Amino acid sequence: MKKHAIIPIFIPHKGCPNDCVFCNQRRITARDGDITTSDIRKIADTWLETLENVETVEMAFFGGSFTGLPMEEQSEYLSVAKEYKDMGKIDKIHLSTRPDYIDDEILENLKSHGVDVIELGVQSFDPKVLAASKRGHRVEDVYSACKKIKYWKFSLGIQLMIGLPGDSLEADIFSAKEAVALNPETARLYPTVVIENTELYDMTLAGTYKMLDEDDAVFRAKEMYKILSSAGINIIRVGLKSSDLIGPSNSLTGATFHPAFRQLVEGDLAREIIENELKPYVNETLSHEKKKSQGNGTVTCYSSPRDFSNMIGNSKRNKIYFNNKYPNLKFIYKIDSELKRNQYRIDF
Ligand code: SF4
Repeated sequence: MKKHAIIPIFIPHKGCPNDCVFCNQRRITARDGDITTSDIRKIADTWLETLENVETVEMAFFGGSFTGLPMEEQSEYLSVAKEYKDMGKIDKIHLSTRPDYIDDEILENLKSHGVDVIELGVQSFDPKVLAASKRGHRVEDVYSACKKIKYWKFSLGIQLMIGLPGDSLEADIFSAKEAVALNPETARLYPTVVIENTELYDMTLAGTYKMLDEDDAVFRAKEMYKILSSAGINIIRVGLKSSDLIGPSNSLTGATFHPAFRQLVEGDLAREIIENELKPYVNETLSHEKKKSQGNGTVTCYSSPRDFSNMIGNSKRNKIYFNNKYPNLKFIYKIDSELKRNQYRIDF
């Protein structure tokens, strides 16, 4: 049985007064027009036909800042979601919004419509990054919104971006730690992708913004992933999917867009864990040449079933890495069903 499925309802953010440098939704919104409640029903019914035997089905309002819509409009959309929830067709209602579009009146309305999950587009906890990205809200808004969301007993999700203007590894690590302190249930990590029709695109062409290269983006995401996952936060997304890139003609200029970005990050994490386990043996091996020549050089690496491909790495990159770095050792890869996600062990 599939555990979890999301019915995504994309609500273009009409009249968004903000102009975040990485976002093209204003122009997209102008093209796409309004979504109606009958559109929502159609989308939901179409998805539900394909979602049999799913433990938890969420209807999720994405695509902008839901709570920035006029209250009546929020209620209109949410009434449809609540109707589906009351009928038992869906289990949860989920939405994403901005930290400065949260107050008690808004949260009370969301509660009365049965909303369960609120994801905040935080992007960064560094005021310089927020300003350089023209987010239009302060870090204080994030702390205040998260506190209120927790107070009203919603499930909290925090979205963070990597590589925005003014960002650094230190700022990313700081953001991950601050996110942990706010105790969200879920997190998403998005490396910045430069798409057409954005200020970031113009800045890239003008040379005033330089996107991260893939290695740097993966490294930073991995460091943040470690902080968030070791605090027990469920990281529900790492990197964009191509279907997240809204609009028909986005041309990607970002080296940081990789369709398997999550696997790159989790694969690098697997390599790091295995190499750390290997280190004491390798040192010993190197200082005892004789042992190697006697054939004592086979390393068996184990992962949980779900992490086997992460252990091997995207395009076998971990296999290649270990073979090249330790040519005197022979690596074998196996599954150990006792291991949990992101746990690895070696026999040497
Ligand atoms: S990211 Fe959200 S808040 Fe920023 S411009 Fe786009 S829709 Fe508006």
